[in-house]
Amino acid sequence: MIYKNFKDLKISALAMGAMRLPKVDGVSEKIDKEKSFEIIDYAYKNGINYFDTAYRYHGGESETFLGEALSRYPRESFYLATKMPGHMMTYNKGKFEFSSLMAGLPAIPPDEIFKQQLQKCRVSYFDFYLLHNVCEGSLDFYTNKEIGVLDFLIKQKENGAIRHLGFSAHCRPETIETFLNWCGKNFAEGIIEFAQIQLNYLDWDLQNAKRKYEILTERKIPVWVMEPCRGGKLANFDGQTNALLKQVRPDDSIASWAFRYLKSLPNVCVILSGMSSLEQLKDNLKTFEDESVLSEKEKEVLNEAVKTLSGLIPCTSCRYCCEGCPKNLDIPRLIEMFNESSLNPNSILIKLTAETFKENELPSNCISCGACAKVCPQGIDIPNILKKLSDKITEIKASL
Ligand code: SF4
Ligand code: SF4
Repeated sequence: MIYKNFKDLKISALAMGAMRLPKVDGVSEKIDKEKSFEIIDYAYKNGINYFDTAYRYHGGESETFLGEALSRYPRESFYLATKMPGHMMTYNKGKFEFSSLMAGLPAIPPDEIFKQQLQKCRVSYFDFYLLHNVCEGSLDFYTNKEIGVLDFLIKQKENGAIRHLGFSAHCRPETIETFLNWCGKNFAEGIIEFAQIQLNYLDWDLQNAKRKYEILTERKIPVWVMEPCRGGKLANFDGQTNALLKQVRPDDSIASWAFRYLKSLPNVCVILSGMSSLEQLKDNLKTFEDESVLSEKEKEVLNEAVKTLSGLIPCTSCRYCCEGCPKNLDIPRLIEMFNESSLNPNSILIKLTAETFKENELPSNCISCGACAKVCPQGIDIPNILKKLSDKITEIKASL
């Protein structure tokens, strides 16, 4: 296992995420404890020392399970991370409510959530603690002075219940900047120490992860990676794409390309993978045995392989198209939504809710004037894409 330096710590470059542990069946979120213990034990014994969970992973069971699994090892021999679920909370006149996946559950305030998390995880401190999913929909909650979530967590850091504080984000690059600016001196004084973002070779352009990585790097914030294989989607492709990669490295898995790509980014510290089987874990451990990254030739092959993935629109977020749009549509953002929906049909609904799209920002406002397509260097038929996206949204809304 290779290790990364962070402050005075040595963290395994591959970290174990506990959101996709083996389940007892295909329906519920219930963890198959026997199989999951086996995975955690194997990970620990083979050099992984960073374990990540969150309040609602596995319907709330993940923290409890991980707490039990890790309690069999000396506390100082592993790093444990969990998160405040502010992205699933609302606050109105002194009253907290859970939303999204937690809607309807009896809500408790952040300080009680934190206390509960320590108990569930059987620890007296967290090595790493994150504001979970800072995004367009959760920014108000996290920055609300009356709630004071960040102030509360800073206090926990001062009293030793949190060793290192950070945030995770699935949002647009501008929102990360807004949040960092709001953090102000807390960030400047090193109180916010790391950021976890979705980063992989597909999202580098598709979700403009490139810009997010740049923003964090410019501000000297080390990057923790989540979704390195996009929930397994970069672990296996259809014929042509697989063949291109296998031709170059016949003995290596398709997933290993995703990890070696990330290992070549200098500001990446930890790469989290939600491993669901021993087979996946063993394969990933092999990729992290040494520092090897993609060669220049392999990067070219990977670019070619990505191009073969059907249905993805090659928007580079240059924004040339936005200036002349009479409807002021954020075209790259809408194309990003279109691409996401090609990979995951549920993503439209998630994006519409999490990113708080207003009516006048939806693709249905496009009047097909074609001004955008004329200036697009990628030759994208933008009006046609927006029409298709609009139809998809109409269909989804009708089915609710
Ligand atoms: S075709 Fe649609 S998106 Fe393009 S400039 Fe015209 S209104 Fe804007
Ligand atoms: S001009 Fe083309 S490539 Fe650039 S942001 Fe617009 S759609 Fe994307």
